[in-house]
Amino acid sequence: MAMLTVHIDKWALFNMLFSAIEVAKTECIGWLFGSAPTSLCKYYRIVNAIPLQFLKVRRNSEVELHDRGIAQTDNLINVLPTFKYPRIGGFHSHVEWGNTQPPLHLSNTDIQFMIDWDKKIEIIVGVMKNRKHILWGRQKDGSICGSSGKYFFHLYAYTLVESEGEQYSLTLPIVAPASLRFLRKSS
Ligand SMILES: [Zn+2]
Repeated sequence: MAMLTVHIDKWALFNMLFSAIEVAKTECIGWLFGSAPTSLCKYYRIVNAIPLQFLKVRRNSEVELHDRGIAQTDNLINVLPTFKYPRIGGFHSHVEWGNTQPPLHLSNTDIQFMIDWDKKIEIIVGVMKNRKHILWGRQKDGSICGSSGKYFFHLYAYTLVESEGEQYSLTLPIVAPASLRFLRKSS
């Protein structure tokens, strides 16, 4: 089977970057909305990314969701009849701490969250400061990264695969040509 890819629309990507910057040096967390792969389309398409702001705990390495916040966003999603794109996953940031690089993989807690909330994909937004300026682009491993202002971002998309009853994370290549072109021009 061909490798699935993750297509990110421009505003969905920008929303993830805005959310990550707003609360750096702590983590942001949010939902992703879009469409899942079908027999004809071998990709996830993310059309929007919305941050969750009502949290129990917000730390550098961990955020804890508040059930009431999730229930309230679900209420709204359920009453919008034309909300064409379902929630298909989530995103959250991993932020540099002092000289310590942020991990760009899913932690065991992240994997458990994906299982608990039935998230098909999760995007990690790595946030670092004071790097050499790097033009936005796609890396060989399928991640995308680049500098905007004083921040350097590195994004990885993950899904879960099951093997012998255990869930493991698998990196999916990100495709976002329009967003990358825009970010390259403006940074
Ligand atoms: Zn995490």
